[in-house]
Amino acid sequence: MKSVPQIFGCLVFNDEVMRQKLPKDVFKSLQKTIAEGRDLDISVANVVATAMKDWAIEQGATHYTHWFQPLTGITAEKHDSFISPVAGGRIIMDFSGKELIKGEPDASSFPSGGLRATFEARGYTSWDPTSYAFIKDRTLCIPTVFCSYNGEALDQKTPLLRSMELISEQSLRILKLFGNTSAHRVITTVGAEQEYFLIDKDTYLKRNDLLLTGRTLFGAPSPKGQELEDHYFGTIKPRVSSFMKELDEELWKLGILAKTEHNEAAPAQHELAPIFNSSNKASDHNQLTMEIMKKVAAKHNLVCLLHEKPFEGINGSGKHNNWSLCTDTGLNLFDPGKTPSENAQFLLFLVAVIKAIDEHQDLMRISVASAGNDHRLGGGEAPPAIISIYLGDELTSILEALEHGEEYNETETELMEIGVHVLPNFPKDTTDRNRTSPFAFTGNKFEFRMLGSSQSISEPNTVLNTIVAHELMQFANILEQAPNFNKALKKLIAKTIREHKRIIFNGDGYSKAWEDEAKERGLLNLPSTVDALPHFIEQKNIDLFTQHNIYTESEISSRYEISLETYSKRVRIEALTLIDIIKTSILPAITSYTQKLATTIAATKSVAPNLEMVAENSLLTKFSILNDRIFNEVTKLEETLINEPSFVLENARFYHDDILESMSVLRTYIDDAESNMDSTYWTLPTYTDLIFRV
Ligand code: ADP
Ligand code: MG
Repeated sequence: MKSVPQIFGCLVFNDEVMRQKLPKDVFKSLQKTIAEGRDLDISVANVVATAMKDWAIEQGATHYTHWFQPLTGITAEKHDSFISPVAGGRIIMDFSGKELIKGEPDASSFPSGGLRATFEARGYTSWDPTSYAFIKDRTLCIPTVFCSYNGEALDQKTPLLRSMELISEQSLRILKLFGNTSAHRVITTVGAEQEYFLIDKDTYLKRNDLLLTGRTLFGAPSPKGQELEDHYFGTIKPRVSSFMKELDEELWKLGILAKTEHNEAAPAQHELAPIFNSSNKASDHNQLTMEIMKKVAAKHNLVCLLHEKPFEGINGSGKHNNWSLCTDTGLNLFDPGKTPSENAQFLLFLVAVIKAIDEHQDLMRISVASAGNDHRLGGGEAPPAIISIYLGDELTSILEALEHGEEYNETETELMEIGVHVLPNFPKDTTDRNRTSPFAFTGNKFEFRMLGSSQSISEPNTVLNTIVAHELMQFANILEQAPNFNKALKKLIAKTIREHKRIIFNGDGYSKAWEDEAKERGLLNLPSTVDALPHFIEQKNIDLFTQHNIYTESEISSRYEISLETYSKRVRIEALTLIDIIKTSILPAITSYTQKLATTIAATKSVAPNLEMVAENSLLTKFSILNDRIFNEVTKLEETLINEPSFVLENARFYHDDILESMSVLRTYIDDAESNMDSTYWTLPTYTDLIFRV
């Protein structure tokens, strides 16, 4: 058996392989292109392509694909084989530099929100050499960006790469002010912890709601839920642990740093945490992780559910986006440091984040908005829909001192540099134990906890990088002009804290009291996708993104439309699925059961006329009433669906306000029926079957 170091990255065309397979000058030239983010020379690309193809064929590959993240959130690939005909009816395996650099998929089937009229339904994909090529299913996958012919981004990756450039540039300006000239690049690092459910495949296949929508649209609570808290630290079941073992191996082969596998709070829920990486690689790796999870699960006759809320009354799944900034020399900019100068630099980056999050609460919320995630956020199990920052009591009191330091310590500026001499060390375990904060400082990084389990991490990171870079830019503009750097720095930090401290909250984010307090503080509370998305197209956000060339105005409006359309489509599919299950399974089940009750009552009456049959009679009444109610509501729902409004926002509102509401009414009736019916008549798997039978 091969050891872990032997299998790690064995399916990846990484630096090590490139060094072996490429001529020295080509390798150097490629590395330089990557480091400087320039376009690849075609002569270099030809050599790289041949080496890549030969290596891929050695690994058993027959096809290649430009692998990218369209706006739907999943990854897309179109496979082309390497074969190329030659004389004599034979073929050779061929792959050119041109094919490596650029692909032209038929883009008409990907959503573009009007960016690309169908008559010119072509976009092009172009290799992102900052992320390694890899092999999956005998196919060489080339990580790429996907753009329209006018250069507009049709994917999630392009804006992420743009935002990484931006934050690097602005961070370097700040570092220079602190005398750091050795750093040439600042990299955003991300570790995305992935939550998921594993359930039995045979059981899953009997639930069309799970199959078609990813979540259960009905289901009475199991007598046992997560109240015993016995799952989190419980032993991992053999079937699950063999799944995890195989998953780790498959991920390692792809060079993905899968580190921790454990059970989560809810029964049947688990988590995978990778070691952090640069954010574009982390984003590719997270997409791959989700895909491999589903594939490996199938091999174990399991199904991996990535939906944010597969089961009502049971914790949903999210993704924790651990985020930090790191120089190319290996310095973590959110490490508080040990010297006053390091401390001051840390504090400046910290207050930039505080200001960024406070000023752009709407964008943070929008970046995680989806129909699935709406069921989680604010549900008393996941972060609330209100954005705040957790800093911990220690750091918060340091900021309080700094805020007032301006008035009290004016004469001591030289000595104290910016008001505190040396920051105390932050023991890691004091950082946010209660885990209810949507955005927490955890020692040397921030943890953004609102992401949905199925979403791409690209968009939230694009937003985070852009808004922080925007503040760093403003800070640099001020400080570069200041006659006395230390004085200006101290003033800037104090002013920023004073103006933005309302966003800091260290208490219980799940409590009702916080909702009220947040309102008093003037913080935004955007409970649903439909409430959040209209903020995306506000002038201030258009200005922000266009100023920094992250999104063009048309990219913003297309993303806005696609998000709303996707929301509506999802809810529509859910409603249609529910209607179908009700008509084909639930109403017939109730009818059969009432029929059985009626027959029993009649038969008993004929032999024992004096028996009252209280139980049977009351059940019969109950189910007749339920059947009527369900029938009436489902008829109403069907009629409502016919009249959907045509404008995107109105349409999404309609699905949110009318359709989801009607589905939830139906659910209460169905769950009532399920929990009172003879189980031989209720053939649909119950929550107990789904959650406890792996
Ligand atoms: P926890 O206490 O939540 O388990 P860890 O420190 O082990 O926290 O990290 C959780 C996640 O954060 C992991 O994916 C880890 O790789 C990631 N992480 C750690 N340091 C950084 C960093 N500097 N930048 C980005 N992510 C990081
Ligand atoms: Mg975590």
